[in-house]
This record gives sequence, structure tokens and C-alpha cells, in this order.
Amino acid sequence: MKASDQPAALQQGFGALPAFVITSRFVFRAHLRLSVNPANFDFHSHSSVSDGFLSPDTVAQRAAANGVDLWALTDHDDLGGLTVAAQAAEEAGIGFVSGVEISIEWENTPIHIVGLGFDAQHPDIVQGLAGLRAGRLERARRMGEALAAKGIPGVYEGALGYVTNPNLISRAHFARYLVSIGIAKDVSGVFQYYLTPGKPGYVDHRWAGLEDAVSWIKAAGGVAVVAHPGRYKMSGGEMRRFLAQFKDVGGAAIEVISGSHSPDHVLHFARLARHFGFHASRGSDFHGPEESYVDLGRLPQLPPDLKPVWRLVC
Ligand code: AMP
Ligand code: MN
Ligand code: MN
Ligand code: MN
Repeated sequence: MKASDQPAALQQGFGALPAFVITSRFVFRAHLRLSVNPANFDFHSHSSVSDGFLSPDTVAQRAAANGVDLWALTDHDDLGGLTVAAQAAEEAGIGFVSGVEISIEWENTPIHIVGLGFDAQHPDIVQGLAGLRAGRLERARRMGEALAAKGIPGVYEGALGYVTNPNLISRAHFARYLVSIGIAKDVSGVFQYYLTPGKPGYVDHRWAGLEDAVSWIKAAGGVAVVAHPGRYKMSGGEMRRFLAQFKDVGGAAIEVISGSHSPDHVLHFARLARHFGFHASRGSDFHGPEESYVDLGRLPQLPPDLKPVWRLVC
């Protein structure tokens, strides 16, 4: 049979089919029937609902403009952007998966766990995150007191001026205010000299436990992912112990490709993903054009032998 005798769809090949068709099981959970793999998924990004600079709909539009075809908004400890993000993603013609980045501590090390593809109305995650946000406010007041005691008054009030969601204050807002008063020339300088352990504006804080965060995500039908594992101050042995516990409590994936990962991190965490049987995620950790490692979707592909995490949420 000549090519011209074939039905039109076959002549055109899979390129003629939509990349995916969305139906929804949960309010925010995208279900994709894939005829081809997403070419450019980005499952880690922030909006003004936490410490990002752009509104959720603007982040969606920017993701689409950058060629992202499957996207998750993962604001810190808050689900308030997901409705607008889902709508804007649909209007922009890209797939959307609900997301969040949950602040936890493990053996006194602060760690971030990304949740993907969950029911954003589920009371376990809704209530758990409300507690984390209240704790952030209390920590912020203590940060202000600690800085005042070192001779820099008014920083809590100043940081509030940079907050875009009154329920979600982060060290990033402190950093932006401290840059504005000339304490350091950029936010990374502020973090280095004022906002990290042992520095004047850093205070100890009790975040969620590992098991709590994973259980909230799983109760809501989602998938738990270790965010940017290359950024934690842990020895190799501690990281393996942490990942073993993460797996034990139901964790399913780690970010292998992250905006903050070096090529060596990618090789290292790809090996650990294989070793533990984790799925692999990929996310820019975009916060805004001025304050990000990379722009949305501007990331290397996952090593091809790894199991992409979108298979678990689509
Ligand atoms: P928090 O969750 O309040 O402890 O704040 C952490 C946030 O601060 C991160 O999500 C980043 O947005 C930002 N951040 C942390 N470390 C740095 C750094 N070295 N440079 C710039 N931003 C940072
Ligand atoms: Mn942040
Ligand atoms: Mn993070
Ligand atoms: Mn993040």
C-alpha cells in the first residue's frame, strides 16, 4: 500500500495527534492519556502565592511560552494558587498537575518535599499546610527579634512589605527587604551572611516531620518527591539513610533534574534513583525572572533509563 492510500491520521503519524487529552479525577489532578511523552515537563515552580514574583496565571503563560507541555505549580506550604493555575494552564493549552513544596525537617536538617497530583481539597493536606503557615509567621517574628538584637531593627515589618500572600512569609521576603536597605548587594549575599544557620537572622524552627508530609500527600492521592536533593547539607551516608526512610514511609520519587543541580548532582542522584527504585522528577524551581536558577522548562532531559514521575500522576 502506498503512503497516499493510508487514512489521513496514519499518514500524518503521531505528530498529528494531540500530545495528551485531559480528563480529571480530582479537582486539580490532570489525567493524561499520552500518545507521546511530554517533551518538556516542569514539576517545580513558584508564584506570588508563596515567594515567587509572578501570579499563578502569569507563571502558566510563561511556562507555555517556554515550551513546557506539562506543568506543576509547587508553592511553599500553600495550595491557594492551584485553581487559577489549572485554569490558566488549560487556556494556554498545556497539561497541569497539582503541586506543593512542603517544608519538613529530618534529624534537624530542613528539607523540602514536593507533592504532585493530589486532591487539593483533602482535609489532611489542607490542615497540615495551615499549621505550617502559622509556624512561618511565628518564626518570622523571631527572626525579626534576632536581627533587632544584632542591631538591625524593623526587619519583620519590612519583610511584610514584600509578602504577596499575607499567610505565607518566607526567608526570601526577609532577603528582599534586607537588600532594599543595603545590608547586602543581592539576596544570595543576604542568605550567606544573615539568613543561614549560625548567622544573625537564622532561628531554629520546627517544620513538619517526614512521615507527616508524605502521609498528607498520600492521603490526598498524590505522589511525594524529594525536592532538589543536591542542596542539603548531608553526608552521602545521611542522604542514603534519609532516602531509605523516605521510601519506607511511602515516598516515590526524587528530583534528578533541578535548576539547582550541577551535572555531577544529576549523575549522583540518577544513581540513587536507580538504587532505590525511585521515579525521577524534573523541575526548574522558578521563582521569577530575577531570582531563579533557570527559567521554566529550560532544563536538561532526564537520563533516558529513569522512570519519569509524570507516569505516576498522569
Ligand atoms: P524558607 O522556606 O522561609 O526557609 O525560605 C526558603 C526560600 O528562600 C527558598 O525557597 C528560596 O526561595 C529562598 N532561598 C534560600 N536560600 C537561598 C539563597 N542562597 N539564595 C537565594 N534564595 C534563597
Ligand atoms: Mn522559595
Ligand atoms: Mn525548595
Ligand atoms: Mn522551590
